[in-house]
Amino acid sequence: MKLVLLGAPGAGKGTHATHLSDDYGIPHISTGDIFRANLRNGTELGLKAKSYMDQGLLVPDELTVDLVLDRLKQDDCKNGWILDGFPRNLFQAEALTKALADEGDEIDYAINLIVDDQEIVRRMSGRLVCSSCGVSYNTNGLMPKVDGVCDRCGGPVVRRADDEPETVLKRLNVYHEQTEPIAAYYRGLGKEARVDGALPKDETYALLTGLLGDKDGCHN
Ligand code: ADP
Ligand code: ZN
Repeated sequence: MKLVLLGAPGAGKGTHATHLSDDYGIPHISTGDIFRANLRNGTELGLKAKSYMDQGLLVPDELTVDLVLDRLKQDDCKNGWILDGFPRNLFQAEALTKALADEGDEIDYAINLIVDDQEIVRRMSGRLVCSSCGVSYNTNGLMPKVDGVCDRCGGPVVRRADDEPETVLKRLNVYHEQTEPIAAYYRGLGKEARVDGALPKDETYALLTGLLGDKDGCHN
């Protein structure tokens, strides 16, 4: 199963992608996580990406597209993958479609997690993330059982630098200007699946598994 997750920052892409990845046994590929890992490790890519991320801007396509397309060629991607945070503009979406088409392939769904701006701002103001595995927590909702320690991997749970309120608004603008239009692109390809992302987490997840079917991929 090959999935693209669309939706505003804070719509729950990372949370649901992690869960789907565990349940369906396919890798969760988050470009944000890849950039943050590069930042932590002080790589050249991390250094280049940092200034864009800190400002809430998109990292340039030259640094992003090949990175993802190469990742999709790795062995663990044979049975599918879940892309979270990519594509983020029309250029990236078209590059992905083309790279897959060259292999006679296509995505199954572009899942659009619908959450309104007010709820996004509310969620992101309380968001904390595990800096090791990327799982999200929220001061308005689910918190780790032990303060500051990830339930899933034991890593440190912290506020992301780009979750400061000013940067959140900037990222939301970038989302509306550059990322939201790709929903229409996938609609045109007959791939868009709209899912209510504002419900309690488990209810949204049930909608997702209802859409995708069991993990043998019988939905086709
Ligand atoms: P969120 O979905 O919460 O906004 P991400 O972790 O997906 O956060 O992304 C964090 C930052 O990483 C983005 O604001 C952007 O700077 C950069 N980034 C992630 N994915 C992409 C991408 N596909 N293209 C360009 N920049 C990206
Ligand atoms: Zn963790």
